[in-house]
Amino acid sequence: MPAAARIRPGRFLAVTLAAAALLTGCAATPAPSSPSTASAPARGTGRLAVAYDAPRSPEDRAARAFLRAHRVLEDAAAYADARIALPRDVPLRAASCEAPNPYWDEKAGRITYCYGFVDDARRVFSRVDTDGTPAERAAAVDEDVVGLSNGVLFHELGHALVDLYDLPVTGREEDAVDQLAVLLLASGDERHADYAISAINAWGAMWEASEGGDPGVAGYSDVHSMDGQRFFNWACWLYGSDPARFADAVDGEGNPDGVLPRDRAALCPAEFRRVDSSWHTLLAPHLKQP
Ligand SMILES: [Zn+2]
Repeated sequence: MPAAARIRPGRFLAVTLAAAALLTGCAATPAPSSPSTASAPARGTGRLAVAYDAPRSPEDRAARAFLRAHRVLEDAAAYADARIALPRDVPLRAASCEAPNPYWDEKAGRITYCYGFVDDARRVFSRVDTDGTPAERAAAVDEDVVGLSNGVLFHELGHALVDLYDLPVTGREEDAVDQLAVLLLASGDERHADYAISAINAWGAMWEASEGGDPGVAGYSDVHSMDGQRFFNWACWLYGSDPARFADAVDGEGNPDGVLPRDRAALCPAEFRRVDSSWHTLLAPHLKQP
């Protein structure tokens, strides 16, 4: 079955409003001008340095065990390090957080993955992954938690790169770093494309949970695009990265499960090419792979 066949809004069941709050707190701290980055070498030698803070609850301890067992942070760091040089080592630490949303902290110069994110993501996917035996469903939830975690970590890496290399961003930074996350995931193996699909399914589930309600001031004023927009954007860029491979993502005769309206899908290959060329231009001095 083509991987994109898994992108189906019809599979999404209602999720709790608490789960819908997942990821809304991704807070890149405002970036004051940093004299130290102005003198950064054009080609950095830094890497993501994984670390685990002591968990502050039994739930967080279980999340740490999950992250270690699946090598979530280690594999994401290795994947990014194989592609992009950093101007200095950047901690990628797992920690107990008050709000369980991973974030880039410009002042501290580190990416934090919150242990609580594992359970929040698990709650979302336990309502999405409803096919198969209990063991199969549990395995699917685990895979999706790993996948979404990778998507979120590469999103935060995007914030880090913007700050560390003082990259220009026109338009919303949250959208720009979403584009980098999809680009990284779509430029690797099938496993990483599946990670992108996990993230797409998460946006879809959270969108469905809030559909019918007015997003209100909080939704319209948020720095992030709304969940439904992120669902279609991520689906569009992944489809655009390889239209033949992800053809099942497009709505059409004989494929009513396709999630992308044909009008948007027609633009997606060009959108992805622009994303690809723009990020390659911005990161050119720092790329380890063409
Ligand atoms: Zn963000």
